[in-house]
Amino acid sequence: MNLLVLGPQGSGKGTQAKRISAAHALPHVSTGDMFRAAIASGTELGRRVEPILASGDLVPDELTVALIRERLSEEDARDGFVLDGFPRNLTQAEALDGMLAEIGRGLDAVLFFDLSDELAVERIRGRALDEDRDDDTPEAIGRRLAIYHEQTEPVVERYRATGKLVPLHAARSIEDVSTEIEAALDLLEDGAAA
Ligand code: AMP
Repeated sequence: MNLLVLGPQGSGKGTQAKRISAAHALPHVSTGDMFRAAIASGTELGRRVEPILASGDLVPDELTVALIRERLSEEDARDGFVLDGFPRNLTQAEALDGMLAEIGRGLDAVLFFDLSDELAVERIRGRALDEDRDDDTPEAIGRRLAIYHEQTEPVVERYRATGKLVPLHAARSIEDVSTEIEAALDLLEDGAAA
């Protein structure tokens, strides 16, 4: 299965992506995690993206698309993946569709975590206290939400139009959202097997 999770920060998409990854033996491919790992290990890429992440802005598309192209061509992603944090804008969405078309694959489902700004901010602030992420300053949180509305919401609409979007009410508990996701994925797998 080729899956994508979309939604604002704080919507629980990362948590659910990890659960799906474990339950279905699919690699969890998170661009945010990849950038943070590059920063932690002090690579050239890490040095380049560190100030961008701290500000809440987006890393340039060429860098991000190249990173994803490389990652999705690795052996463990051959039978599927859970993509988290990418695509963040229409340019990246077009690049992803092009990449998948090249290898004769498509997305099976796009899980959309729908959450109000108020709840998103509340949850990110809670996480900032727990995890000490340096991009969880009030300025960076506001910047990321603004970018989400401007640039990522059009991606949601793009996938809605394909009929692949699975909208989820992300304000509920982790367990409730997880149950709904598993029911949706069961239907997909049954459909694929039929
Ligand atoms: P995340 O963990 O997904 O919230 O991502 C953390 C930060 O990494 C974002 O605020 C961006 O600076 C950067 N980032 C992650 N994914 C992307 C992407 N697809 N395009 C550009 N920048 C990204």
